[in-house]
Amino acid sequence: MSNTKTALVTGANKGLGFEIAAGLGARGYRVAVGARDEARGDAAVRTLHAAGVDAFAVPLDVTSDRSVTAAAELIRRHGGRLDVLVNNAGISGETGPGWTQDPTTLDLDVVRQVVETNVYGVIRVTNAMLPFLRRSASPRIVNVSSSVGSVTWQADPAINVGPIMAAYSPTKSYLNAVTVHYARQFAGTGILINAACPGLVATDFTGFHGRSPREAAATPIRLATLPDGSPTGSFFNDDGVIPW
Ligand code: NDP
Repeated sequence: MSNTKTALVTGANKGLGFEIAAGLGARGYRVAVGARDEARGDAAVRTLHAAGVDAFAVPLDVTSDRSVTAAAELIRRHGGRLDVLVNNAGISGETGPGWTQDPTTLDLDVVRQVVETNVYGVIRVTNAMLPFLRRSASPRIVNVSSSVGSVTWQADPAINVGPIMAAYSPTKSYLNAVTVHYARQFAGTGILINAACPGLVATDFTGFHGRSPREAAATPIRLATLPDGSPTGSFFNDDGVIPW
């Protein structure tokens, strides 16, 4: 089996996911570029190749069992070992003016879609990829979360947590909770799993407000490349651990 480490990043065709893929590629990882749209995934792989990154496309819609099963089969054919999984794919759901999502008027179909993507998608992909992660000497899983999923911060009137996003924020709280339970389950296995807040990032997601995706990729990349014995089951931003 090749010594080159392999990293799968979901939603890696653009935005933060693309920069995480590029950053891991620059660190010598072979990158599996997850993208639900095949053409967009292929385009991202071409850009990464042009930058000297060893990358291949993985058609992957995190909301589809069939797509995730096919993606796992592709990873098996590409050596069958994953050293890193970055669960990055995510959606905000529809937002009102200023990104508000008023809990009293939420469209439950939108809520279901956001949970399906941001939470169930992560569980679906993680469990499908686990057999490959277990073949790594130092498996790492990073769940791209958000500080708006910090219930502690959301509940503190002294902290400016931005607009009420009642569909999106709780999906990241849920994802954080799931991260803790995976960490408990993985105790003693060497698999480290942590949640990362990238800060406000200038991507399609935010209408290109915030800092550069390259800068924002630093914490997810750090967590994806943690040395053995590092923390697991925690929630980090650039400044360190943040409260659940
Ligand atoms: P983008 O909208 O730029 O990128 C989102 C990525 O997720 C795209 O590649 C998109 O694919 C993909 N995606 C969406 N749904 C699915 C799906 N069902 N299956 C597979 N891929 C899917 O957003 P960001 O890069 O900003 O967001 C990345 C992550 O960072 C998200 O989890 C988000 O919640 C989180 N985050 C972002 C912040 C920000 O300020 N931008 C702040 C905190 C967290 P496609 O191109 O096909 O739509």
